[in-house]
Amino acid sequence: MRKTLVAGNWKMNGGTAANEDLCDRIASGLSASDALELLVCPPFPYLEAVGKKLAGSAVKLGAQNVSQHVSGAYTGEVSAGMLKDLGCEYVIVGHSERRAMMGESSEIVAEKFAAALRNELTPILCVGETLEERTAGRMKAVIASQLEPVLDGPAGIEALASAVIAYEPVWAIGTGRTASPEQAQDVHQYIRNILAERDVDISSRVQILYGGSVKGDNAAGLFAMPDIDGGLIGGASLNAAEFLAIARAAGSQVR
Ligand code: PEP
Repeated sequence: MRKTLVAGNWKMNGGTAANEDLCDRIASGLSASDALELLVCPPFPYLEAVGKKLAGSAVKLGAQNVSQHVSGAYTGEVSAGMLKDLGCEYVIVGHSERRAMMGESSEIVAEKFAAALRNELTPILCVGETLEERTAGRMKAVIASQLEPVLDGPAGIEALASAVIAYEPVWAIGTGRTASPEQAQDVHQYIRNILAERDVDISSRVQILYGGSVKGDNAAGLFAMPDIDGGLIGGASLNAAEFLAIARAAGSQVR
């Protein structure tokens, strides 16, 4: 049985007071659900404070990015060991904004993925096509090419046994244009099939999240699909009521 995971990606938003308020509202609005996992990913400077604020609640802590390097002369970078030290359990790697704006290739993303695993962090590997790639019929080839550097890495498919995948169509991120449950399911099933070609057992255990303009009112339809195991939530994760509505939609899905 795969648990449903709802992860909030706060991106470059928030501040000390706003984060405290958001954490209070989220923590006080939660009700126990064994089948649901919740996670927030604040910006680096707030990881420690948010972790302390949420300690004892059901909400886990993750980061939005990690260096592929261990330590040394990498000004401005943050290592996986540092994230672990601050209490992170997860880290997002390969978000489309970093691929597009910081030029992160799938090979670099695979190195970040491996750095996370070496430090016992669960990487959330983001994949997804642009509208242009979808329109040109290259969607599945693009997604396969984003997965392959991880699958062909030293740990192979075993690396996915301790990881999460997030399918985030670029055209749906921050646009208010959500993939339909059927469109998302089609890609999630495709991703699971790619994994199953290498290991059926691991493919059936990996959580595959959907991300892209998920809101309280469209989450249930997405999470009801058989291969959608929760969501990576951007904008709506900054609003406690919306985030909790999405969590509630996820909590009603037990598989
Ligand atoms: C994201 O950035 O990961 C994301 C899914 O954003 P949004 O929910 O705002 O589309």
